[in-house]
Amino acid sequence: MGQICCKCGKSDSEEKIVEGFCISCYTQEFPLIISFPEKKLNITACKLCGDLMYHSKWYKVLNQPSDVIRDILDGFVKKAKKAKGTELVLVSDFDNPPCDVASKHPLKVIFEGSPNPEVPLYQQEMELDLVINIGVCERCAKFNRGYFESIVQVRSDRREINEDEQRLISELIKTKREESISGNRMAYIAKFVDQTRGGIDLYIGSEHFAKSIAHYLAENLAASIDYSTKLKSVKDGKPVYLSTYCVRVPYFEVGDLVEYQNEPHQVIRFNSGRVELFNLKTRDHKTLSHKESHPDYLTIIKKKVNLPKFIIVALQPPSVSIMNSVSFETIDIDSQFIFDDHSDGDEIIMGDLPNGLFECFDI
Ligand SMILES: [Zn+2]
Ligand SMILES: [Zn+2]
Repeated sequence: MGQICCKCGKSDSEEKIVEGFCISCYTQEFPLIISFPEKKLNITACKLCGDLMYHSKWYKVLNQPSDVIRDILDGFVKKAKKAKGTELVLVSDFDNPPCDVASKHPLKVIFEGSPNPEVPLYQQEMELDLVINIGVCERCAKFNRGYFESIVQVRSDRREINEDEQRLISELIKTKREESISGNRMAYIAKFVDQTRGGIDLYIGSEHFAKSIAHYLAENLAASIDYSTKLKSVKDGKPVYLSTYCVRVPYFEVGDLVEYQNEPHQVIRFNSGRVELFNLKTRDHKTLSHKESHPDYLTIIKKKVNLPKFIIVALQPPSVSIMNSVSFETIDIDSQFIFDDHSDGDEIIMGDLPNGLFECFDI
């Protein structure tokens, strides 16, 4: 004797019967989604930056708000009570919600699955209201109040910050700023004070971001860092500290003469914070490690502006006669200590050290 559906009375010759129901009745009796975790999908949008919050967590909107909402919706569906293996297959198209006015968007969501292997996959359509509330995120609120946790100062040691350094600093800050967009929400620069040659002050929202900017700048500028902290206020019985990272650009600049490992060298350039040196005696080039590209390892002998100028009077290798452009005194030196491509009458700059004269790059 055949089975019949206990609901509609259909026989198994008309439609397959599973667990006492025909397939049509089965899909009615056993919904895929039993319940949603909440009646509505409540999201808050920051009216200042457009980021979205769900259950107290802020999500960065990089492109479309709808991308973030879709991710939140996936998390919402994961928490729904549902038949095993049920999947969200389609969400009705919805416009990107406006972030300046509260709104409600009825969404149609379609699920697919089957709780019983004998029943083919079937779909269920559900309605869900997406509710957008308007607020201000913690970061924008703090930013608007001019809140900062740390100051990064860029200063130079006993000299002005030169134009090249100024340009490099601006570029480095720009790179760091872009990097921070997707990471730490409090990684923002609240205020930027450019004291031009005197230095730069950056007021930073997070201590962590300040530290990372300071180290990044120091590494690229062959600089050292002084860290200090002071009590700013007390909040809820807890002390709030303000930290300062002072990034000190070294006294030596490109073109200057420095002593490195007891030998005189000229600073040729800074390559991503690594100092390239030219050994005046051996005439060899060397790029130092980040660690050694630091005032602890390099002592200044002479600033480039103080290097004397000479005129080549007679080039007769292995010697050369040169005349001091100020005193007109002429001396003979070994021609290996000047560069190869010279001829009589050329003006050159020399490092005048206790153990002799060595031509330097005019950079
Ligand atoms: Zn039936
Ligand atoms: Zn915001």
